[in-house]
Amino acid sequence: MTDCIFCKIINREIPSYKVYEDDEVYAFLDITQTTKGHTLVIPKQHVTDIFEYDDVLAAKLFSRIPKISRGLEKAFPDMKGLNLINNNKELAYQSVFHSHVHLIPRYSKDDDFSITFKNNGDNYTPETMSQIASTIKEVIDHE
Ligand code: AMP
Ligand code: ZN
Repeated sequence: MTDCIFCKIINREIPSYKVYEDDEVYAFLDITQTTKGHTLVIPKQHVTDIFEYDDVLAAKLFSRIPKISRGLEKAFPDMKGLNLINNNKELAYQSVFHSHVHLIPRYSKDDDFSITFKNNGDNYTPETMSQIASTIKEVIDHE
């Protein structure tokens, strides 16, 4: 895609700090370095977000993530954890519309990064949970 910053990175039209590349996937340091080694993994095929992947492209992208994660772990022996983040659509904080997965190494609880899940479980009865699950399952089963 001509006007996409990540396509331009793949095509070497703009520079990046590459950490991995093969025929299908490219990985490079996120310019913000939320933590040391913060890496973005992208498919070379331009897809906007997770909703545009087919099974084959998803397998290609995600199959590389363990290898790159182990690379980070070996490169930074003080790394104690890793968050994988994938933002989809503006509401969910996506700011570059070429799909990407963030690999965010974690070194301590005081890292400049936090992700917390609020527990809203008490707001849902078992019946509502069953209803939500069956609604989603039905749609997926008919995909
Ligand atoms: P998101 O907000 O999930 O769409 O993430 C987009 C990420 O791309 C941000 O964390 C930016 O720091 C990063 N980013 C944008 N432009 C560049 C660039 N030229 N090189 C490296 N990272 C970039
Ligand atoms: Zn692109």
